[in-house]
Parts: sequence; C-alpha cells; structure tokens
Amino acid sequence: MTNKIFIIKNQKTTYHIVHGANSTECERYASKELQKYLYLSTSTPIPVFSDKCEVRGKEIIIGEARNNTFKKLLEGKSNEAFLIKENDGNIIITGNSPRGVLYGVYKFLEEFIGYRMYASDCESYEKKTDLVIDEKYTLIQDFTFEYREAYWTCAFDANFASKNMLNSNLADLSSKYGGKVKWFNFHHSFGDLVNPQEYFDEHPEYFSLVDGERKKEHTELCLSNPDVYNICLKKLKEWIINNPECDIFSVAQDEWMGHFIKMACECENCKKIDEENASQSGSIITFVNKLADEIKKEYPNKFIHTFAYQYSRKTPSKVVPHDNVIVRLCNIECSWNKGIEEAMINKDSNEYKFYNDLVGWSKITKHLYIWDYAVNYRNYLLPFPNLRTMVKNIELYRKFNVKGILMQGNFSYGGGGYLDELKSYLVARLLRDDFEGLDKTIKDFCDNYYGKEASPYIIEFINLWEDNVYDKKLWLYDDSDSDLFTTDIINKAYALITQALKVSNGEYYDRVDKLMLSMEYLIIVRKPLNDESRNEMLDKFIVRVKKHHITELFERTELEYSFDVMRKSQYAKNRENWYSLYYIMR
Ligand SMILES: [Zn+2]
Repeated sequence: MTNKIFIIKNQKTTYHIVHGANSTECERYASKELQKYLYLSTSTPIPVFSDKCEVRGKEIIIGEARNNTFKKLLEGKSNEAFLIKENDGNIIITGNSPRGVLYGVYKFLEEFIGYRMYASDCESYEKKTDLVIDEKYTLIQDFTFEYREAYWTCAFDANFASKNMLNSNLADLSSKYGGKVKWFNFHHSFGDLVNPQEYFDEHPEYFSLVDGERKKEHTELCLSNPDVYNICLKKLKEWIINNPECDIFSVAQDEWMGHFIKMACECENCKKIDEENASQSGSIITFVNKLADEIKKEYPNKFIHTFAYQYSRKTPSKVVPHDNVIVRLCNIECSWNKGIEEAMINKDSNEYKFYNDLVGWSKITKHLYIWDYAVNYRNYLLPFPNLRTMVKNIELYRKFNVKGILMQGNFSYGGGGYLDELKSYLVARLLRDDFEGLDKTIKDFCDNYYGKEASPYIIEFINLWEDNVYDKKLWLYDDSDSDLFTTDIINKAYALITQALKVSNGEYYDRVDKLMLSMEYLIIVRKPLNDESRNEMLDKFIVRVKKHHITELFERTELEYSFDVMRKSQYAKNRENWYSLYYIMR
C-alpha cells in the first residue's frame, strides 16, 4: 500500500511554500496562486517564503528553489513541460520554463482540490479539510501542441488562458503569466512586405501576373522576382529587430478570396516552380525557405510562418519547408457536421482533398500548424454544433504530427455567440494532453457554468443539435434556412432552454438567458416579414442583445446594421453593401 502524506490535516499544516530568491515574477506569482487556492479550498493559510530563509519544516518547493535539480527529469521535453513530485515529504513543482512552473501549480490544484476555470467569471474547487498526496507521487506532463490558441474574445483573458494552459498569441499574457507564443503580424502579410500602393506604379513586375496582366488590386507577389526577395528580406529583418519579443514572423499570402478568383502569379518563372511542384504552394515555400535560411544565420530561434490556404493548400511535390518555417494549413472549405475522416465520402469531397493535404504536409513539415474554425461568421448566434467534430479533428491533427492549432471562434469585442464559453473551454482542454473526454467535459462545464439545476436541460439542448447535424452540411457561412433548422428541432431546443430558465437564478439565469438569444435569433429571422409578431419580438430581442453587451451578430459588422437586416429580410439574407472577404488583415 502506498503511504499517504498529509500536507494539510484537519485544516492545520506545518508546510511552507518556497520560491527561489532569484526566481522570476511568474514563479513568485505561481507561489501566490498556490497559496490562494489552497486557502480557498481548505481555509488553511500556508506561508510563502523565498529560499533565502532557512528551512523550518516541510516545503512545497516552486521551480528551482533550494537548488533542487528535479528539472533534469524533464530533459528532452518541451519548454512548457512540468513536474509534480513528492520527495522526502517535500513537494516539488517545477517546469522547463517559468510558464511550465505556473502550469505545474495549476495542474497540482486540478489534481488535489479539483480546481477548474470554466470561464473568466466561473471557477470551482472542492472544499476540503485535508490535503493528501501519495508518497513518491510523480506526475510529468508535456504538450504535443507547442502552440495552442482559442480564438474567442472570452479566451483572451489572461487568467482564463493561463489557468487552461493556452499560450495564445492574442491572449493578454504578460511575463507574470510566463508569456506566450508571440507572433508578429499574425496573418496575411505580402501586402505589408511589398505594398502595391508604394511600388506598383513604378514596378508592376513585383506583383501577380494573372491572365497576362499585372494586378494592383487583390494581388499577391511575384515570388520569383529577385527585387521582391530583397525588399522582403530587408523588411523582415526590420520587423525582427524592432520586435525582439516576437517568436514568429509571418510571410504569407494575402486574403483575397482565393477560392473564387485567380491570385497567384503566373509569370514564366513562378509558373515553372509551381508546375514542378504541382501546386501554387511551390513558389511560396521556395520563397519562404530562402528568406528563412537567411534569417536563421542571425536569428536561429525565430520562425517564419506562411499559409497553406485556398490556392496554396495543396502540398508541393518537390520543395520541402525548412525547419524554421511554420506552415499553417487551413480547412475553410470543409464541412463541420462530422469529423474530416468520416466526411471523406468520395475523392471529390473537400474533406478528402483536405485530408490528403494534411497527410502530405505532415510528411514534409517539421512545424505544421492548423487554422481551424468553430463558429458561423455570417450569423454568430446561429447554433453551430461542431463539438464532436472538434474532438475528432483535433485527434486527427494529433495523429498527423501537427504542432500548433488555432481554433477560430467569435473574436468580436462583445463575444456572445452560440456556446462561446463552452467552446473556448473545450478547445483549451482538447489542446492539452490530458483531455478527459467530451461528455465529461461538457457535463463539468454545464454543471458549473449554468448551474446544476439547468445543466441537464442545457446538455440535452447541446446534444439535440449535435445529433441532428451529423447528416447535414454545416458551413461557416450558412443561413438560418439551412437543412439543419427544422421547425421540430427548433421547437424542442426552445423548450429545453425555456425549462432551463425556469430552474435558474442569479448569474446562472443570465448565462442561460444569453444562450436563449441563439434561439430567439433563429426564430425571428425565420419568420416571414408579414408575420404580426415579428417586429415586436425583434424589438425585445434588440434590448436583450444590448443587455448582454454583444457587439456583433455578423462578423466585423456594426450591430445596428444587423438589426436592420433582420428587420428587412427573412433569414437575414438581404445584406446590401455587406463586406466581403476582400480585405487585408492587419
Ligand atoms: Zn511571378
């Protein structure tokens, strides 16, 4: 039988929390976090000291305090790996970086007091009088995904991100939280590197030749032009010098709706490279490799990022991305009703093509990242039941040695889309290596976030949509007249949220009430314009949207415009002057 060691017994302890006298801000913060949550759970105060003080009893040792060398057990693991270990009655929590140490503290709290942070305004832990650990207890944890980003406004909160071990570029993670994976110009960047407004008139040959004409608008770069290379290299070095805190620099095609129009350069030299590679990614990877080689000489720890997106998604047959190149593959053409592997019904399906590209890139890329999607951008409130798909796809990416994932949700200032909080939490858990399964994660979340009374109704609501989407297409720009939305399912779903509201109060009520907006949106926009109740319902809906501080119903669109569209058109379809995807992300 394993001996048990009491850190706290009957709300009494002889332990101290000790960090190094020269430890980082993050490790001192980790010590305070441990003290705080152990107190909240057990009402037992454990003092925090630095290791300048003499040993007074047993200790919880943070990082490399007391010159402990247990970090050597993490050799060969990533810089975020951490260790929790009992040794001679002392507890060691250490990691390969300050952030790893902080993660170790949160994992300790998860394991020993059941700590969870479900949303920035919702955390839970058990109430205990004892804190007990097995003698010789050892837990080592690392991350398959070196970059983990949940791209929802509600996940940018530093507390939420660090407690759920997200190292998201967009999260507010200062050095206190051990920092993050920091990108410079996170997105598309060709236009930033060589701006057509600055260069085109004198040098049209720097830009895409499409159907015999150099393009100034909606253009990409002529990547075989030596001047273009030199301008990019100069600019890239400037970026690196001026942003020393950044790890990753983007050299990536622009966002000009490459599904529908030709964008990449077809000049003789570019075309030759692309033909040799049987893909327009050929000239991109060739170009990015050359830059990356040059950058590596002076900056061996910096990465250059590029996209495999739309026209450049297909794996090149010849050129191989160099080790300091990150390729980010995007699955925007797929459907989210089921996992990619399940959806590959025939060779013409988008999912089959994407799967092939995933396999292809995974064979040649050391740092393959994924940009995946988890919300309806045309209608943020519409049910987008992709939870099961998300689990399956992230497992698929794991299988093919993907190293980083960005899951893009509702990133509008006010958030508030369909299940934003649950999705952010689920993504965070999925991107770690200790995922506890979908049903358990949903239940834990709903019990705590919506309250135990409402939780069974919310879970039934979630599963109703998940069950019914399986045989329908689910895309990022669907309207409310899609096959998924039948009167029968809408009525059932509405009834479940109504029941959940009846048994809720306080903050739980507000959260269920916010979820109800998804149902109301759906019901209102589906009504014919001549329905007598339509305008009255809409007026009430508008008041409630504002009450919940939602700022966008459609991606990047003024709220009042969305209300006008809802009022004027069934299914909110008639969107005069609505933005299209012709933009540069900056
Ligand atoms: Zn060219």
